[in-house]
Amino acid sequence: CGIVGYIGKRDSQDILIEGLKKLEYRGYDSAGIAVFTTNGLEIKKSKGRLAVLEDKLRDEPLQGSVGIGHTRWATHGKPSDVNSHPHTDNSAKFSVVHNGIVENYLDLKEELTIKGHRFVSETDTEVISHLVADEYDGNIVEAVQRAVKRMRGAFALGVLTEFEPERLVAVRFASPLVIGVGEGENFIGSDIPAILEHTRNVYILNDGEMAVLTRDGVELMTTEGEFISKEIYHVDWDL
Ligand code: GLU
Repeated sequence: CGIVGYIGKRDSQDILIEGLKKLEYRGYDSAGIAVFTTNGLEIKKSKGRLAVLEDKLRDEPLQGSVGIGHTRWATHGKPSDVNSHPHTDNSAKFSVVHNGIVENYLDLKEELTIKGHRFVSETDTEVISHLVADEYDGNIVEAVQRAVKRMRGAFALGVLTEFEPERLVAVRFASPLVIGVGEGENFIGSDIPAILEHTRNVYILNDGEMAVLTRDGVELMTTEGEFISKEIYHVDWDL
């Protein structure tokens, strides 16, 4: 139900957790984060309040300056550790957070299962991570574009792959998502409060639009791959 993402030079864990706290008003049953650490893409997630996740992270922090986070409001699959986001694929090289519903996830799941994919959760979201992995041939932006073309429903996505640790991909289709523009760092969030502590310069994505974030910039395009430009919305209110 809530998404945050960070790519920059600071440690991402606290930025992600604090951002998720700002989205708590939306309601949730589980929470999790994925961070690029020196061991690769690592995920920590659990059913329950953010405090449960924070306890886990206190014992084993995830250190790294690129990450995505999620609070889940379960629609497909009961609240559980395994059904929590971020989700990954069998290679564990891709990670996805998702708000919304993938209506045709059972069809996609069946197709991917025949191709050899093995699923561990009951969620529609896990199918997205496998689909992106399946479509991947060296360019995460194109893989996400192809994946999204095959998905029906509503989604806001944050996607990371270990193959391209300098990029964070975000997509909006009928679920809200904003991009926060910083200096040497950029953010995604399902709503402005998640990132307002860090920047007041925001792009509001429309349906069918996506963003590719690096530390130094944000590229905006449609999910068809057409580059677009957008005015920055300057947030002049406080929480
Ligand atoms: N449909 C997804 C799930 O049940 C995402 C729910 C959400 O928006 O939090 O895991």
